[in-house]
Amino acid sequence: MGKEDDRGEEYLFKIVLIGDSAVGKSNLLSRFSRDEFDTNSKATIGVEFQTQLVEIEGKEVKAQIWDTAGQERFRAVTSAYYRGAFGALIVYDITRSDTFQSVKPHCDTAVAQMLVGNKCDLEDIRAVSVEEGKALAEEEGLFFMETSALDATNVDKAFEIVIREIFNNVS
Ligand code: GDP
Ligand code: MG
Repeated sequence: MGKEDDRGEEYLFKIVLIGDSAVGKSNLLSRFSRDEFDTNSKATIGVEFQTQLVEIEGKEVKAQIWDTAGQERFRAVTSAYYRGAFGALIVYDITRSDTFQSVKPHCDTAVAQMLVGNKCDLEDIRAVSVEEGKALAEEEGLFFMETSALDATNVDKAFEIVIREIFNNVS
């Protein structure tokens, strides 16, 4: 049973991870939920989402974060994946322009979406500038952040900004 706060309210937000294969979606999630990084991460099999508890303004919020089970390789991510999502992290790899070119927001129900340029630890082989990322985010009305799942830069922050923005929109 889920815990309720003193007013009996429960907050459960579905958040989806979107982006090309190998941009680091699964590692962003494992960094956020377990503070782990996996260098040979394989396609997630069987696990559809992880639930992470976050406290906002004294309220317990459950973030249910969905990761694709590798379907993005086959462009087979279905509408069920996006259905009911309140938030989205749209991830590209700052070292691969093709992953930036394919960014597009898909999530009609989302009240908070963030464009995430991951692998910012790889500055020496950067292919997408911070300015390009910012400009696209502004054009599409998204939050923007560069992250590294490897060294943990901005990972918690990115998820927390999205969760807080959803909270502000629903409460
Ligand atoms: P997904 O396919 O989008 O889920 O990507 P994964 O999380 O499986 O990561 C793909 C590859 O990129 C793996 O080899 C990871 O170790 C690597 N990777 C993920 N995030 C980072 C990061 O922030 N920095 C670096 N240097 N490598 C990363
Ligand atoms: Mg993955």
